[in-house]
Amino acid sequence: MRFRDINGLEAQKNTLIQSVKKNHVAHAQLFHGSEGSGNLALALAFGSFLNCEKPSDTDSCGECSSCVKTDKLIHPDITFIFPTAGGKKVLSENFMAEWREFVLDHPYKNSTDWLEKINIKQGNIPVEEARKLIQNLSLKSYEGGYKLIYLWLPEYLSISTANAILKVLEEPPEKTLFFLICNNSENLLTTIISRTQRFAIPKFTDEEISVNLYNRGIDSVRAKEIAMLADGNMHKALEIAQSKNDNLHDWFANWMRYCYGFKVLDLVPMADEFDALNKEQEKQILEYALTIFREIFLVAGGNENMVKLEESALDFVQKFAKVFNIGNLSKMTELLDEAIFHIDRNVRAKIVFLDISLKLAQLIK
Ligand SMILES: [Zn+2]
Repeated sequence: MRFRDINGLEAQKNTLIQSVKKNHVAHAQLFHGSEGSGNLALALAFGSFLNCEKPSDTDSCGECSSCVKTDKLIHPDITFIFPTAGGKKVLSENFMAEWREFVLDHPYKNSTDWLEKINIKQGNIPVEEARKLIQNLSLKSYEGGYKLIYLWLPEYLSISTANAILKVLEEPPEKTLFFLICNNSENLLTTIISRTQRFAIPKFTDEEISVNLYNRGIDSVRAKEIAMLADGNMHKALEIAQSKNDNLHDWFANWMRYCYGFKVLDLVPMADEFDALNKEQEKQILEYALTIFREIFLVAGGNENMVKLEESALDFVQKFAKVFNIGNLSKMTELLDEAIFHIDRNVRAKIVFLDISLKLAQLIK
């Protein structure tokens, strides 16, 4: 991973690059960012930069033997520790094949994806992991560069594991760096936090997300639509992009037309169509509706310049705002939240959809 592979986060990249130039690289850094942020991606790019044999002023080369091994996650001086099943002999090193596949697909995934991938219900980082690590750290670096320890989701450290690594975290051997990649620093032990330098990674902007999607071959209108739904979460954006709801707006617009016209005969087959989608797709449609309602509110309030929509969607919102009963907006928003809640709890989608459609039909005008 190069810095240039990550869209945006320029200030954060610069901070890391400058720390190397000024010889001020903290020996234990906490890359803290919400789910779907660039925290792991940035830490990986930084690792490449640190050990690159021919770095430019602002990035690793991507071609030297260190970069090649780092990119494949097979560099002998890089250790990854992440949640596993926690049995005595079940350590991160036993899951490296799965880990490589997981991260190389894209580095914005979350703990649920990981535990699902390795088929574990509840993960943790057992104390044996700390013992193994301390043993490894006593060995010299293989390639003469930095030894890097990536601790992904230190939220999963057991108390005994955390206690076992405190000393080495505070005073690691020479040329050894710890990168702790976390989503919820409030779940970390203060003893861990106090031994790290906190490095906050902001959420991605809509623009950064849409550019990333566009670079992955998604057309620009849809990329912007997805970015709006993803709320700065790259993981969520990629998930939506991979799902088959590529006509989200058309689907929503038809739905609203049927509701507005109280067209029950059209709503019933639509409910069947909705029922045939998977849970994530169903939630996407309802979340999209929430987003559009918010935009309608802005248009109706005269804040049209804040509206983030594109072309056909914007046109729709402008027209719809004129006939939409804005006084019922909070009630409609509540209904949508409730529907998402029910879908999450596996209430039959067809019933949820018909129920909310009929209620919206009454409130919409
Ligand atoms: Zn290189």
